[in-house]
Amino acid sequence: MYRSHTCGEINLTNKDQEVQLSGWVQKIRNKGFMVWVDLRDRYGITQLIFDEERSSKELMEKAGKLGREFVIQVTGEVIERESKNPNIPTGEIEILVSQLNILNTSLTPPFTIEEETDGGEDLRMKYRYLDIRRNPVKNKLVFRHKVGMQVRNYLSQAGFIEVETPYLIKSTPEGARDFVVPSRMNEGQFYALPQSPQTFKQLLMVGGMDKYFQIVKCFRDEDLRADRQPEFTQIDCEMAFVEQEDILNIFEGLTRHLLKEIKGVDIIDFPRMTYAEAMAKYGNDKPDIRFGMEFANLNEQAKNKGFNVFDQQELVVGIAVPGAASYTRKEIDKLIDWVKRPQVGANGLVWVKYNEDGSLKSSVDKFYSSEDLLGWAKETGAKAGDLILVMAGDTNKTRTQLSTLRMHLGNELGLRNSEEFAPLWVLDFPLLEWDEETQRYHAMHHPFTSPKKEDIALLETNPGEVRANAYDLVLNGNEIGGGSIRIHDKKTQSKMFDYLGFTEEEAKEQFGFLMDAFQYGAPPHGGIAFGFDRLVAILGGQETIRDFIAFPKNNAGRDVMIDAPAKLDEDQLKELHLKLRI
Ligand code: ASP
Repeated sequence: MYRSHTCGEINLTNKDQEVQLSGWVQKIRNKGFMVWVDLRDRYGITQLIFDEERSSKELMEKAGKLGREFVIQVTGEVIERESKNPNIPTGEIEILVSQLNILNTSLTPPFTIEEETDGGEDLRMKYRYLDIRRNPVKNKLVFRHKVGMQVRNYLSQAGFIEVETPYLIKSTPEGARDFVVPSRMNEGQFYALPQSPQTFKQLLMVGGMDKYFQIVKCFRDEDLRADRQPEFTQIDCEMAFVEQEDILNIFEGLTRHLLKEIKGVDIIDFPRMTYAEAMAKYGNDKPDIRFGMEFANLNEQAKNKGFNVFDQQELVVGIAVPGAASYTRKEIDKLIDWVKRPQVGANGLVWVKYNEDGSLKSSVDKFYSSEDLLGWAKETGAKAGDLILVMAGDTNKTRTQLSTLRMHLGNELGLRNSEEFAPLWVLDFPLLEWDEETQRYHAMHHPFTSPKKEDIALLETNPGEVRANAYDLVLNGNEIGGGSIRIHDKKTQSKMFDYLGFTEEEAKEQFGFLMDAFQYGAPPHGGIAFGFDRLVAILGGQETIRDFIAFPKNNAGRDVMIDAPAKLDEDQLKELHLKLRI
């Protein structure tokens, strides 16, 4: 038996007992006549003591040879500590060791394996197995497990069945590039790794599974924008015989359950907002509604008053920044520089200080009277003491830029409290999205999303205006889930492929199986997928998903620990019928 207890559970109630513990040596304090060791395992830290007066010479010598991260097994008596540590559950006791068994030695680790470490990100990733020994990382993995268990509990109780779907499949067009896998047995042919189990979960509905879910890996070969991973995890779900409302209810329930069980927070309210409203009010389809600063359209107030810069623009839009009238010129200039950086790309920023004394001072005083500016204050909801910031330009671009500024200010002003949770549904997404590059429409969600019945006629006349039965669940400025009610008949599905620019042959080759299935009694169905990594990170109060993934990849999509991706040798390439072009 390696151990009778873990390193996290022994306390004064075990006093005088003989115990066995196994674990890693975290810290050694060697005074010669006494040696203290902090012994660590997943459950905690227990202090060991070797005492010249009470231990044999041999044992003292052995203890003196211990090094950091050695794996040891000890037997000893639980005694009361003289100087107690109230910060840990085992802080009142220590183990007077009578037997020490060194199970394995260790090289000196390349960084300290403690709460705070001296190791930088790259080093920690290279030795991730050592990083995982550290409490902050370990705790995040335990936390992820807990969230996963709660998801499984809730969905199982609601009648969902977890079904696995294959990883070696054929391309699913969901906007990103596929990772492909050559087939040895089928010369010149390739599998693709799923961007999501989308078509399979729909086929499960045709198969009568009724309620499906899966906590599943998905793969997208995208350029890795900040905090994305090429392989990530979804809570993927699909239901038959449902309308949008049914799905919203079930997954509002799941989110409520998680917030309650994991965070102890009761959220009752899940406001709903249309896509159009979210874009107009926040310039963003995943608004953070924990703070205000809603957009105000100032076209009427600000155009045609002699200020040329605004007159020519499609949209003049402003926000009121609470309490920021006291910003100095320097601080405002810093904001202006910030929005002019290429990452934001704005032309500039017009500002109005609505001073505490009610007076107004702006960068456009030449063109606007105090009365005009008061009108702006009214529209943006600014009060005395606030700063109004205004941008102008092309509608979509300007909204995006102002939204970036709004989030930046939200962070700067400490308005994005990670322990506050504000979910909302964003509904009625456009079905199609115009792509400048390819000069055609793409499915905004994916090609299986159904258009709103009342908008179908618009497909012929104004495709960009057609709304979809699609919805996103947003939490604290992040899209944590998205889905749609699907098309479930062959005719509409082929029409959709047609609108999206697929030829009949292409559609048949890529999705023949789905359209075939639709001819055998496909039920009405719909579903949603949650980004599990992101959800866990938000619930854990963190910005980055990386720490909640045991073995994440870096920004170049590399696993620096196993050093992947890597070359294949010539024999392997041959076997796969591959010749490199480089
Ligand atoms: N498969 C979709 C996605 O990964 C989600 C869905 O429509 O259920 O975004």
